[in-house]
Amino acid sequence: MKIDFANLTKAYLEHRKAIDEAMRNVVSSSRFIMGEEVRELEKQLQQYTGSKHAITCASGTDALILAMMALDIKPGDEIITTPFTFIATAETIAFLGAIPVFVDIDEATYNIDVNLIEEKITSKTKAIMPVSLYGQIADMDEINTLAIKYDLAVIEDAAQSFGATYKGKKSCNLSTIGCTSFFPAKPLGCFGDGGALFTNNAELSDKIKSIRVHGQTERYIHKYIGIGGRLDTLQAAILIEKLKHYEKDIIRRQSVAKKYNEHLGNDTTIPFIKENNISVWAQYSIRVKNRKDIQTTMKKKGIPTAVHYPKPLHLQECFEYLGYKEGDFPVSENVSKEIMSLPMNPYLTDIEIQYITKELKELL
Ligand SMILES: *Cc1c(COP(=O)(O)O)cnc(C)c1O
Repeated sequence: MKIDFANLTKAYLEHRKAIDEAMRNVVSSSRFIMGEEVRELEKQLQQYTGSKHAITCASGTDALILAMMALDIKPGDEIITTPFTFIATAETIAFLGAIPVFVDIDEATYNIDVNLIEEKITSKTKAIMPVSLYGQIADMDEINTLAIKYDLAVIEDAAQSFGATYKGKKSCNLSTIGCTSFFPAKPLGCFGDGGALFTNNAELSDKIKSIRVHGQTERYIHKYIGIGGRLDTLQAAILIEKLKHYEKDIIRRQSVAKKYNEHLGNDTTIPFIKENNISVWAQYSIRVKNRKDIQTTMKKKGIPTAVHYPKPLHLQECFEYLGYKEGDFPVSENVSKEIMSLPMNPYLTDIEIQYITKELKELL
């Protein structure tokens, strides 16, 4: 049997006619930049999350950069985040000259350990950037309480959690600014790069929209230093079609995760989802001791696996200058040695799940 990890092909084929037509419409209109689909998608994203404002952009990475630029993050400012995430989280902070201040993760959820945040807050701290990893939202109430106490902004890195809920509220609508990604392999993916920002603050929304287009307020009038960070009309048109089926996709992902849990619950550390949370299962990640061997053998059996992430960010060469060392964040370090993601997509069949878990159990 040959298993597809994210099955992007099927995601296209299932709605091929509608997607093809949407793409053709954009191409024949020639409105490749800021066509009407962009605005239409923003309206739908805003309604979907319940956030007052949704602003699309060129990628999840750009969403983080735009959020921090809109919040006037300056060189030397400190932003608290976790080292157990995709590089973009901390990279964008450093890109703006600000300083990523790492806090270890919770061993159960792999999200930032809210008990360790307060001791890292200094007079230079400007924001907390929790990551809603693998599709599960971080402990936003505790984070927001700290942010209010110390007058900080909160930027949710929701690149993996669009559509997830926390106490009934949608990801991206739980902080000062929520940032998501529509990279093809994310739960809601387009056919290239894409992203979006969400806020309930009208002033921030206007500023983000302006910075997204070179800081302009009207044509050739530039109020801010900005970037070229717009979402392509083509990607917007594709996302409008995919958003129609997204709730169904989430339910199917949940069903896959539940079946994995049932098969694997007694044999390994399965994902832990907090009671208040509904995950969108960007990844289904378990903990294994002999990861390398398992991955090699599974690959031979046609089962792709992945590691999110093998090296915590404080130990990456690019962050050497921050002065962290091995042992600084023991939970992140341990988890990065054992974590392994299984194929996850809405189309995995019972037979495939049985095959994957049976082969895996023999190796545990
Ligand atoms: C994917 C991802 C990003 C970056 O999104 P892109 O659209 O690939 O730029 C940022 N943060 C996290 C946690 C991600 O998983």
